[in-house]
Amino acid sequence: MDRIVIVGGGISGLATAFRLRQAADAEGRALQITILEAEDQPGGKMRSDREGGFVIERGPNGFLDSRLNALGLMVDLGVENLLMRADKNAAKRFVCRDGRLVPLPETPPAFLRSSLLSGAAKRRLMHEPWIPAGTAHDESIGDLAARRMGPEARDYLVDPMISGVYAGDPARLSAAAALPRLVLMERKYGSWIRGAIALQGGLPRLLGKIAGRVFGRGPGGGISAGPSGVLTSFKGGVTTLVQVLAERVGASLRLGAPVTSIERVATGWLVGAGTGEGTHYYPADALVLACPADVSSRLLQSAFPSLSGELGAIPYASITVVAVGFNKADLPEGAVDGFGFLVPEVEHRPVLGVLWDSSIFPDRAPPGQVLLRAMVGGARHPDLAVAADDVLVPMVLQQIAELMGIRATPTRVRVVRWAQGIPQYNVGHLDRMARIDASLSRLPGLFLCHNSYRGISLDDCCREAQLAADHVISHLGVMPCQGGA
Ligand SMILES: Cc1cc2nc3c(=O)[nH]c(=O)nc-3n(C[C@H](O)[C@H](O)[C@H](O)COP(=O)(O)OP(=O)(O)OC[C@H]3O[C@@H](n4cnc5c(N)ncnc54)[C@H](O)[C@@H]3O)c2cc1C
Repeated sequence: MDRIVIVGGGISGLATAFRLRQAADAEGRALQITILEAEDQPGGKMRSDREGGFVIERGPNGFLDSRLNALGLMVDLGVENLLMRADKNAAKRFVCRDGRLVPLPETPPAFLRSSLLSGAAKRRLMHEPWIPAGTAHDESIGDLAARRMGPEARDYLVDPMISGVYAGDPARLSAAAALPRLVLMERKYGSWIRGAIALQGGLPRLLGKIAGRVFGRGPGGGISAGPSGVLTSFKGGVTTLVQVLAERVGASLRLGAPVTSIERVATGWLVGAGTGEGTHYYPADALVLACPADVSSRLLQSAFPSLSGELGAIPYASITVVAVGFNKADLPEGAVDGFGFLVPEVEHRPVLGVLWDSSIFPDRAPPGQVLLRAMVGGARHPDLAVAADDVLVPMVLQQIAELMGIRATPTRVRVVRWAQGIPQYNVGHLDRMARIDASLSRLPGLFLCHNSYRGISLDDCCREAQLAADHVISHLGVMPCQGGA
């Protein structure tokens, strides 16, 4: 029987195991799959803390229903009945401008009236179709956005999107790696607006795309799936999906099994989990590293220093989530009517944004309460992410007071820290991935599957898990490959 070891029981590792099991069942083949997870519970960054009637997401709060990889996994798992779409009353989303929350415009008339951009910036943005396409091999998002849209639109439209998705720095992130669709659109149509018109949506669609990336919503104010789809999650939080996946993979999952060594042997791979006399060794015909790139780097350091160096060079942004609950009765009228807000860097505030979680998914707070989640830190403010709780929490509360008018004492506070929170696909990332792929092609049976590489979202993880499973199956030669990178 072929033996497959997966290191890491986050969504990438669990979904890879599920896809492998599915493929094996379809062919009536026996595969021995082992997932080694360091922690005593599965899910990695995907975990919901259920306490006092609140559902506090430690990391992700959902996926877009327009991205079919995650949705496809849900359908194959048969969990459509557990899905929960963002509430239609959470349609409005805001960006901080000059210390005020300004609604993000979603239609051309709203865009023209909006105070989010100055008149000069709007005129510059409308000039976008006449800006020549760039020729750089790899350009930063900041440079690309300033070139096409002008510096003010970069600062107030693109910068918050990048904070919201990557907690990243647009001046360092690679446009081709992080926003490939916009790069392709420029290459194909010479302009984003012309491209959006060609794709039958025009400027509103482009704005909607940006809004959707920022907040997980389509344009038009409604909740129906726009080009960017609707944020979708699970009753009881994202942990619900993790529980279903963990049940499906069953005994394959070993918790509290930190992998400490990887060796290449004549028959394939030998994976050591645990330390000292408690180390258990797992032989593998195929090995999938579904753990963060820095962990893979350490595990491969002595045997494959060059590959290890490339993996270790992928940077991460630290991010800290500060969740706060309030009594609804203590809030000003309409204070949480919407999805949340994001703060552009030029506003010089110590939060990246605040999601109004219980407005988006009402089951996130008990009756009579609301739940907000502030994001702090990111690539540009790693110092804030590590600030002590007694600094961090008052700082967040002050921002909530200044921008939302909420001065009440919170009923619940929870701080979740991610030192290695979100991988940063900086300029050069795609070249690095090409070098990593070249190394892997010389190491048959070794595969990478994590959000460090080819997409940071849950949907990306679901896509990469399917591909990893296809590649493992192809490597083992038990059935034809169904996909490829
Ligand atoms: C604050 C925050 C908010 C986010 N919001 C969203 C969102 O709304 N929507 C979205 O799509 N995405 C979001 N993301 C991204 C999303 O969380 C990731 O795409 C996804 O969770 C990554 O899953 P993964 O399995 O690739 O990695 P991980 O979750 O990092 O899982 C890796 C696993 O490997 C294990 N591991 C590590 N070392 C070892 C070892 N030596 N041996 C064994 N196991 C090991 C870890 O314990 C972990 O369980 C967010 C991320 C953060 C941090």
